[in-house]
Amino acid sequence: MNKGPRIAVYPGSFDPIHEGHLDIIHRCRPVFDRVVVAVLRNTGKTSSFFPVEERVEIIEAVLEGFDDCRVETFEGLLVHFMDKVGARTTVRGLRAVSDFETEFQMALMNRRLDPRVETVFFTPKEEYSYISSRLVKEIFLLGGDVEGLVPPVVRRRMLARRGGPAGAR
Ligand code: ADP
Repeated sequence: MNKGPRIAVYPGSFDPIHEGHLDIIHRCRPVFDRVVVAVLRNTGKTSSFFPVEERVEIIEAVLEGFDDCRVETFEGLLVHFMDKVGARTTVRGLRAVSDFETEFQMALMNRRLDPRVETVFFTPKEEYSYISSRLVKEIFLLGGDVEGLVPPVVRRRMLARRGGPAGAR
């Protein structure tokens, strides 16, 4: 049995990280000794808002002071990355029933790839359950305000990309 520190890997695109992701991170912190936020380097995906390195920088800023959390990037199979960092648990967020089917499928596939891997699901606070990175980007690109949907540092970075007035702050 693995008696080392309980390390959780929370994988995703985090393009950008939003309040729903953050809620999940803070829910899993008391349950694990360490949380590794793992940003997927999706080489095939071209339409990202922030480049991976900037996403990492942003998440580091958002999680500043939380010494049990760290940010890394990975590519390839999640189970290989988990093995590399010594984690046996992956954390995923379940927003609604619609998330369940893919998440369930992925959990079983990861277990097949590495039977030692367990997937743990957390559910966010209701008011965050409808937030997705896709929607945040869409609202922003259509000129809407993303305040309250993303941490202030993310909103500032988004505005900076647009070159808006708050971007300089
Ligand atoms: P993807 O997995 O498609 O790249 P994300 O990177 O946004 O999407 O999501 C990473 C994980 O965070 C997934 O488990 C996803 O279900 C979860 N998640 C995303 N948005 C929320 C939210 N609003 N509340 C809780 N969990 C969320």
